Formats: sequence, C-alpha cells, structure tokens
Amino acid sequence: MKSNKAVCVTGASGFIAAHIVRELLERGYRVRGTVRKSPQNYPFLLALPGAAERLELVEANLLTTGSYDKIVEGCDFVLHTASPYTMNVKNPQTDLVDPAVKGTESILESCLKSGSVKRVIFTSSIAAITDEPESTKVFTEKDWNTMSSLERNPYHYSKTLAELAAWDFIMKKKQPFDLVVINPFMVIGPSIGPSLNTSNQIIRDIMMGVYPGIMDMNWGFVDVRNVAKAHVLAMETDTASGRYLCAAEALQMRELVALLKSSGFGGYALPKVDLSGKIGTRLMKVLSFTQPRDTGMYIRTTIGRTMRYDNSKIKRELQLSFMDIKKSIIETVNDMVKWGHLPPPKR
Ligand code: NAP
Repeated sequence: MKSNKAVCVTGASGFIAAHIVRELLERGYRVRGTVRKSPQNYPFLLALPGAAERLELVEANLLTTGSYDKIVEGCDFVLHTASPYTMNVKNPQTDLVDPAVKGTESILESCLKSGSVKRVIFTSSIAAITDEPESTKVFTEKDWNTMSSLERNPYHYSKTLAELAAWDFIMKKKQPFDLVVINPFMVIGPSIGPSLNTSNQIIRDIMMGVYPGIMDMNWGFVDVRNVAKAHVLAMETDTASGRYLCAAEALQMRELVALLKSSGFGGYALPKVDLSGKIGTRLMKVLSFTQPRDTGMYIRTTIGRTMRYDNSKIKRELQLSFMDIKKSIIETVNDMVKWGHLPPPKR
C-alpha cells in the first residue's frame, strides 16, 4: 500500500527506529525523523530507498521543552521511540527517567497543539510489564511492572513511568488522537546503522566470554524487522488499541549457546560451565555482585525463573507473523561481524 501521509519518528537514529523509517519509506510515507545531531551524521538513514525524496531529519532533544512543537506540526502520525536504552548509568533519575517521562509528556503536548496528529504509537517495553519472571505465570498486556525503582532495574522503571505517563495523558481528557503501545521483549537483528544496540550486545557478550557460565535465564526474542512492522501495522490498523506484547519465541541461554555452537560460532568464547542448576543459580547470584550495578541487579531478579508470555493479541489484531528467531539470531551475529562489533569467526 502506498500512502503520502506524513509520519514523525522520534529517535530515528536508533536501532528499532531506523527499521521503522525504512519500512515507512518503503510504503510511500513522508517521514520526519528526529535526531540529536545534524543530519549529515546519519548517512545510513539518508541512503535508505526513498529517503532523498521523502525523508527529512530534524534535530530535537527529549529534555528541551517545546522542541517537538514545530516537528510534529502537519504530521498524521507520531511514532515515539526515542528513550535512553542503556544500563549502568551514573544517575538513573536524570539519565533515564527524566528523558523517558518528560520527553513523552512533551511530545504528547506537541501532538495536542498540532491539530493534525491522529494517532501516537509509543514504543514501550516488556520492562513495563515485569522485571521479574514468575515461572508459574503467563504474562499478558494486562500486567504492569510494579517492582522497579530508581535502585531496582532503573531502565525498567523509566519505561514503566513513561508508558504510565502516556496513558495518563490520554485518559485525562478527550484527546484528538489515540494511543497504541508496542511492548517488545529482546529485540535483535541486523542493524541499519553502525552502532551496537544494547540488546544485540547481550548476544555479543555471551560470545565474548563476559559471563562465567550458562545461567538459568531465558529471553523472549523478536526480530527488529518484526518490531518495525508492528509499529507500522499499529498505525495503519484502525481497530488497533491498547498495548501489544511483541515477542516471538523464548529461548533459554542454554539453547542460545547450543544454537551458536552448532551454527559455526563455536570458536568464540562461549560459556562452557553449566551454571543453570540450583547450585549454579545460587553461585551466580553471589557472582552477580561483581558485575556492574544494573547488570547484577537484572541477573538477580531474572535468574532461576522462566519467563512465559502470551503473544496472541498482536498476531490476532495486527496480523503480525513472527520470523524464525533462530534464523534471526544467526543473522544478528553475521551482522555484528560485518560492522566489526565481533571478530570474524574462526572456522
Ligand atoms: P537505541 O538504538 O539506543 O535508540 C534509542 C534512541 O533514543 C536513539 O535514537 C537515541 O538517540 C534516542 N535518545 C536517547 N536519549 C535521547 C534524548 N535525550 N533526546 C533525544 N533522543 C534520545 O535503542 P533501541 O533498541 O532502538 O530502542 C528504541 C526504543 O525501543 C526505546 O524506547 C527502548 O526503550 C525500546 N525498546 C527496546 C528494546 C530492545 O531490545 N532493543 C526492547 C524493548 C523496548 P542517539 O542515537 O542520539 O543516542
């Protein structure tokens, strides 16, 4: 379907957003992407098919009040993805929570002033659903993370507060636009730009010997191309509403390591010691205190628990079909080699 509607994508330089921009340009939309530096710093976006005719990059910062007013003016849709996605920051309040929450409020205010915006798609996260898997529970869009704080998993806290702020804004009074939220889990896949994303980095770290052993942990993986498509489908589907948990299959760390080994990546420093039993889990909880603060906290709240979730709403309501996650993991590794984030494999 080709459309000449205008869409604003915040944080266009990001791993997920760059794929959203690509998907929108492919479908014929006019795209206004916000970035933090001048446009010539993003040749990988400017080189996308259709970019020369229909992509405009404009500078904006989440912490500058009113900086989005002019940017969203005339746009039919706003896809708000920009938010710091990083662990182990110096100051969780100013480095994570403030840009996530104040940025969201400021963009929604700008949408309100615009008079043109009909729908906002907000990139939230599984982090706003929970920061602690429960082996006996299947998580859905109805669940909210009530446990994170500035001290406990502050990135999760920033995403929860930002999504709550977005829903509060919409519920406060009748708005001229609606809100649809995408809650992805662990997003992996090939990168359009040269930066290494925090989630792909987890796979790289596993391959570079950062973890002492195979832990009893699992992640719900989802390919970045599926996440981009989910945003565009949420925008185009009139009946889309509420939150959409966005994750394909969950894999145990043990399965991930076995997949990498059997796919020709056994020459990397993959963890060898199996620490996924009860004693290993206890040991890892102690060892987690040697990791950077937030990484250690994340390990302690996750290890020894199996995350289960229901992804049927996004498949049913947005007709999203997920790619084979094992294929996507292999593509991710090859892409990290291509960008120089990983040394080439020893064959
Ligand atoms: P990313 O590559 O780090 O992208 C984050 C984007 O936010 C970048 O464009 C970044 O700009 C921008 N940003 C950060 N702070 C900003 C500020 N103060 N003002 C303006 N822009 C700012 O990470 P990503 O994985 O694509 O994440 C995109 C969104 O998806 C985030 O909301 C994240 O929470 C969410 N998410 C990610 C995952 C995942 O596994 N990757 C899972 C669930 C949800 P710069 O390029 O200038 O730094």
